[in-house]
Amino acid sequence: MHEMSLAEGVLQLIEDAARDQGFTAVRTVWVEIGQLSGVEPEAMAFCFDAVSRGTLLEGARLEVVHVAGSGHCYECGRDTELQAVYDACTHCGAVPVHITGGTEMRVKELEVD
Ligand SMILES: [Zn+2]
Repeated sequence: MHEMSLAEGVLQLIEDAARDQGFTAVRTVWVEIGQLSGVEPEAMAFCFDAVSRGTLLEGARLEVVHVAGSGHCYECGRDTELQAVYDACTHCGAVPVHITGGTEMRVKELEVD
């Protein structure tokens, strides 16, 4: 499950931030998950729970912020929303569309103690 390595990445990032900024507990983690990232929010929540056990993330709440997929059409030059990586332009039907957003998964914000 690739969410497991992503969750471990999130934990690593937060542990590094804790060392730099001197916080010892995390209440809430906001994670942005792009529509086109291939990350399943439910799987992410499950893996987050698993990796947080015994760490400063234990008991923290995971808030998933959904980010829509977006692209720019080569054909008609307009921006379009994408539900999937290989979606056609919603304006003119052209494929492929240059993907401009929604492929990432990142920690957006932390509420810490
Ligand atoms: Zn188009």
